[in-house]
Amino acid sequence: MGGAWRPAARAASLEVESPYDGRVIGTVGISDAADVAAAVDAAKQASVAWAATPLGERVRPLRRFHDLMTAQAADLSNTVALESGKTPAEALAGIQRGLEVVEFALSLPNLDDGAALEVSRGVTCEARREALGVVAGITPFNFPAMVPMWMFPIALTLGNAFILKPSEKVPLAACRIGELMIEAGYAPGLFSVVHGDRGTVNALVDHPDLCAVAFVGSTPVARAVYGRATSLGKRALCLGGAKNHLIVAPDADEALTVRGVVDSFTGCAGQRCMAGSVLVVVGKASRFIEPIVEAASKIELGPGAGVRMGALIDAAARDRLERAIATASSEGADVALDGRKARPPREYEGGHWLGPTVLDRVRPEMECARAELFGPVLTVVRVDSLDEALALDRTTPYGNATSVFTSSGAAARYVVQHATSGMIGVNVGVPVPRDPFSFGGTKESRFGQGDITGPGALDLWSQLKKITTRWAASPDASWTS
Ligand code: NAD
Repeated sequence: MGGAWRPAARAASLEVESPYDGRVIGTVGISDAADVAAAVDAAKQASVAWAATPLGERVRPLRRFHDLMTAQAADLSNTVALESGKTPAEALAGIQRGLEVVEFALSLPNLDDGAALEVSRGVTCEARREALGVVAGITPFNFPAMVPMWMFPIALTLGNAFILKPSEKVPLAACRIGELMIEAGYAPGLFSVVHGDRGTVNALVDHPDLCAVAFVGSTPVARAVYGRATSLGKRALCLGGAKNHLIVAPDADEALTVRGVVDSFTGCAGQRCMAGSVLVVVGKASRFIEPIVEAASKIELGPGAGVRMGALIDAAARDRLERAIATASSEGADVALDGRKARPPREYEGGHWLGPTVLDRVRPEMECARAELFGPVLTVVRVDSLDEALALDRTTPYGNATSVFTSSGAAARYVVQHATSGMIGVNVGVPVPRDPFSFGGTKESRFGQGDITGPGALDLWSQLKKITTRWAASPDASWTS
């Protein structure tokens, strides 16, 4: 905060446990309203000179941050893995994806984003993109480094001062990012980190000098933060949860489909907002279920090398998922693969683990087909036609991703046209758009306008000033002194 570490005003702190084995791996203070106010004050002071700094100069510390982060990515990925339960390889992939957003932000000086036009004789209209002031990002547990990197590189480069409130479950990567930002040379106050949960978020959103907020997390909280921020007249983009459908047509390529589906629902132990959750098999595509179960059953638990899956974030997540599996089974689902029986290596037995699970013959009205489960649980619904599959996609309140596996261009095009999600995959199980294409869903996966990365983010973190100028030379004007 203000370019230095500061103890929280209150003595309260929270312990950070590793999902791998339940061990305490760190402690952070909880930032109360006084801490938040101090962060906002520091940000406000720093933001004035920063907003007046030319864009070409504003990217210089970001370039240094990019180099520092690249050099330290392996080290940081160990912290991310340890606090979030991902495998180190998944943690590293998330950081690399975040670095792509940094690269997009670094390219902003090369984009001719302003506009100027002579609208009538001697009169020119011009648009200037200007900073908002103090802005904030509130992030979830599942991508401790990547999701913050969706936000602050673009927000800062556009001239704002940024305050990050990471998930209280994974605050350690954010601390390390804070250190790198100081090392990169950002002026004190331009980037701060505050810790805590609901109370800290509310203090931040309510602060009168906070202009805009980006939120990524579950749908109920996204809706609440969006409502709170916008009722105070602030700009907000709040991304929520997901229930992504993977539609498999009978003509799909088997190897591509099996790998795509299994990676999608087991990657990051299913704790990704882009993870496949409902597998909708059309007609004879039901023949893919067995090889999918077989491939998923070979995945071992643990952070080590090989085909491995990481841990769930906490005991509550494991309990919730075990309950969901039991409920599905009691409602008539066939538990084709039961992850409750899987065990990690002995040294990780104190952690929160669940193996890949496949629930077959699920009916669309069942809880596991409708609710976001956020774990390595694949719900299989069998339908007779592509239209029936798309009708299911339309009924989900979420709208992050829909994928189709097919070898027919016409079927793919039909799904692209009729699916209701913001991000569509064709033979791709996790259709995350790569920069400069922007990331963002629809329906209850997104509250607010625009996307969180790519060109859409420019409008979130800045405003356009429109200038109309008349410089008409008078007949007696003299150009010499
Ligand atoms: P969460 O909603 O519990 O927490 C997200 C953030 O909100 C955290 O910083 C947390 O401290 C804060 N928070 C929690 N309760 C709050 C409250 N009542 N009021 C104000 N702030 C509160 O989400 P999570 O469990 O950390 O993350 C998982 C969820 O995030 C899943 O639903 C997942 O789909 C979603 N997610 C969505 C995207 C996306 O791009 N749409 C990306 C990643 C994760």
